[in-house]
Amino acid sequence: MDKENRPGHHVKKLPLGDQGEKSLKLPDILRALNLIRINKESSANVQEDPVENITEPGSKSAHTSKIRKLQIGRYEIETTSSSPYPELNDKVPIIYVCEFCLKYMYLRKSYSYHLFHCKKRRPPGSLVYRKDAIHIYEVDGNKEKLYCQCLCLMAKLFLKNKETLYSPKLLFFYILCLKDKDGEHLVGYFSRDKKSNSNVNLNCILVLPPYMRKGYGKLLIALSYEISRKEGVIGGPQKPLSDVGSLCYLSYWGHILLEWLRHHTSPDRITIEELSKATGFVKEDVILTLKFMKIRTYYTDDHILYTTPTIIENRRRHANFKKPKLSIQKKCLVWKTATSRK
Ligand SMILES: [Zn+2]
Repeated sequence: MDKENRPGHHVKKLPLGDQGEKSLKLPDILRALNLIRINKESSANVQEDPVENITEPGSKSAHTSKIRKLQIGRYEIETTSSSPYPELNDKVPIIYVCEFCLKYMYLRKSYSYHLFHCKKRRPPGSLVYRKDAIHIYEVDGNKEKLYCQCLCLMAKLFLKNKETLYSPKLLFFYILCLKDKDGEHLVGYFSRDKKSNSNVNLNCILVLPPYMRKGYGKLLIALSYEISRKEGVIGGPQKPLSDVGSLCYLSYWGHILLEWLRHHTSPDRITIEELSKATGFVKEDVILTLKFMKIRTYYTDDHILYTTPTIIENRRRHANFKKPKLSIQKKCLVWKTATSRK
């Protein structure tokens, strides 16, 4: 991770000191995000139905890997977490994954053999977004069990605090690829509960390290909200988020909220409820982001924003809340709700 990508460096850059109210510091923000997770844990449903053929973390037969590197496509990537790959010899330092079908191998010669014979050149499932070289597929975890299990196992090599291995069949996976003459190369993905009325619109998100800081994470986040919007649901990510994930979300939420406030003639009279409805963000996330941006709120019947166009412009100029490098072009999105597919 480069220096700019570290949470502490983002916080130090904040010159937002023109309001008297003391804002939350990053550790407070992360703690708050975790508290939200604890409050909602009783209703979490992703752990009810373990996947067949994959050992759960912590179970007797699960192996904690010593894998240090992942070879996928043209990249050899240092891993940051462990993953319970089955039948894994502790001495395997590197795992080889086919970037198209996601099958994993422990030997380079098996990998070379597989690459020669594998005919897949894109993820399974249906294309839901296409803009230039960026293609996003929706994959049903129940229909493509093996692909999704392999994806979760690989993701766990980079996600410390996410239990990604439970119940892929209850989830949809949105796979972002970059297309070139050789095929569609995996960049990242997010998973989402199949229940369309859930206000958790993203369970897990990963952008592979070589593709970080290019806007793909925020593009996936934007897609998760676009899907919720089409379903008429106000949503947000499952908590807790990683430090990097939290900063990515705070930056995204901040930008969208500021853009909305900027175009509102009386930003000092807006309630949190209105902001939540306008943006599709759950109220907790709106409140947290406003605190992070040092935009003061106060209580009457609801939180009321206390801000001015000058303050909004000041925040908009800050690097943390700049416009994302990539955004969802609605005309390129062909995703449909379950009811409109029938
Ligand atoms: Zn393959």
